Amino acid sequence: MKLMEDRIRKDGIIENGDVLKVGSFLNQQIDVDFIRTCGREFYRLFGGEQSGVTKILTVEASGIGLACLCAIPFGVPVVFAKKSKSNNISGEVYTAPVYSFTHGTTYTVMIPKSLLSPGDRVLFIDDFLARGAALEGLADICHAAGATVVGAGIFVEKTYQGGGEALRKRGIRVESLARIRSMSPEEGVQFC
Ligand code: 5GP
Repeated sequence: MKLMEDRIRKDGIIENGDVLKVGSFLNQQIDVDFIRTCGREFYRLFGGEQSGVTKILTVEASGIGLACLCAIPFGVPVVFAKKSKSNNISGEVYTAPVYSFTHGTTYTVMIPKSLLSPGDRVLFIDDFLARGAALEGLADICHAAGATVVGAGIFVEKTYQGGGEALRKRGIRVESLARIRSMSPEEGVQFC
């Protein structure tokens, strides 16, 4: 999506080689009009009766605002996985461990069992796809719940970190609005 690539060129800041800061339009500050346009693009890709999306799933915290805006054309609820440092979670919840390369720690994502059922057809929405651990965790939870994964709508995929390839190999349809093949403070961002 040219609009997303142009926005990254204009407002993205490359930090430590591997982290793209998009705090002025996607993360800390959210450009609502822009995200709604992205949501319509995800609806073009994943909407309609054939896909039959019943729920949009994301991970707290940065995914929530984006997923809510993208859910508008779909007219379905958003569920977000909570993150917890503890592996010792009780109650009726699905959990999956996720290793965060950005923070160098493992956390647990959890979703109450009451919010996901075998009839659900789930679309993942997330800001970034890097090594894919977060979405692998969500896919494991959907598998445990018997829900169907329709696909993943990603704002920015860093293809060189391999997460997209791993998810696609797993049979998950991944659609990314911008696909970065390399980036550095010297050379800037190179798109696929
Ligand atoms: P993954 O699990 O795919 O390795 O990482 C996905 C999560 O890490 C995203 O939800 C996002 O919060 C964070 N992340 C990974 N790479 C970047 C990046 O370059 N910039 C920002 N802002 N977040 C990132």
